[in-house]
Amino acid sequence: MDGPSNGDNLRRMTHHPPPKHRSPLRKAGHWLRNVLVTMLIAATAFLVAGLVYDDPRVTGLLGMDSGTHSRSEPISTAPVQQTEAAGVARPADTPPPGLEESDAPLGVPELQSVTSESYKFLVLNDDGSPVGYSPCRPLHYVVNETLAPEGAAHLVHDAIRTIGLATGITFIHDGETAEEPSGERDPYQPAAYGDRWAPLLISWTTPEAAPKLKGQVIGTGGSTHYSFNGGPKSFVTGSLELDAPQIDLELERPDGAQYATAVILHELGHVMGLEHVDDPVQLMYPEIGTPDGLAAGDLSGLRELGQTQCRKDL
Ligand SMILES: [Zn+2]
Repeated sequence: MDGPSNGDNLRRMTHHPPPKHRSPLRKAGHWLRNVLVTMLIAATAFLVAGLVYDDPRVTGLLGMDSGTHSRSEPISTAPVQQTEAAGVARPADTPPPGLEESDAPLGVPELQSVTSESYKFLVLNDDGSPVGYSPCRPLHYVVNETLAPEGAAHLVHDAIRTIGLATGITFIHDGETAEEPSGERDPYQPAAYGDRWAPLLISWTTPEAAPKLKGQVIGTGGSTHYSFNGGPKSFVTGSLELDAPQIDLELERPDGAQYATAVILHELGHVMGLEHVDDPVQLMYPEIGTPDGLAAGDLSGLRELGQTQCRKDL
């Protein structure tokens, strides 16, 4: 039985708009049967069409919120440190602000031949601007690649390069790490990474170690935003988990490398701040379709995410 094409057919059926019923009430039984059949097809499609990427994940942390606390009011039992330059208090659980931050973006997103509005952001600021990483400092990343399928480790670095071009953001590979994925990762780990925000953690892992990968989910990704003194939010670190055993199986297919790349790019899309869209042409569609890489909407969204504010205050 031809699994993938069968799955595609069924998936198309589930995304088809439901037929409009104008039947009289006496046909309610017939209608109910149709609904049940549709639900059965949908359930089968989910099982056969198989893999979904994930649920996008965002964590938000708040620094001191001047909107709800006055300066003199104690806002936390955590000790507060003073930065010498501005004399502004900061909580002890954040690194010194502005590390490696320049006055202007370090790069520019590459030009796009075709743009599209088929993209969505995971988080918006109050003024409607998207929340992303500061383009004015490099985005460091580390990889736990102990479980990477043979010959697949380079796919992560290739995908990072693609995202770097699309956003204009400068990525720096800080090497391998032994850090394990965690649902409650501390964004600031001075003992492990020094006095700065922890780098983006990319893990080749398993559903046992990262339970959100259980079932048909093949990858997860997201970032943590920080808002200091009630200012606009910005991502400060993130993580991306890849289901190594599942991707290893996919890599046996002739188009396995493109497929795995699609998964990594989709998750990096979440890390940078993109939400799912309903448009199956885009890589940010929640189910894995044809692995054609970033489409016009994905690229337009990433381009915007690469042009958020510089953040010397974070
Ligand atoms: Zn997703």
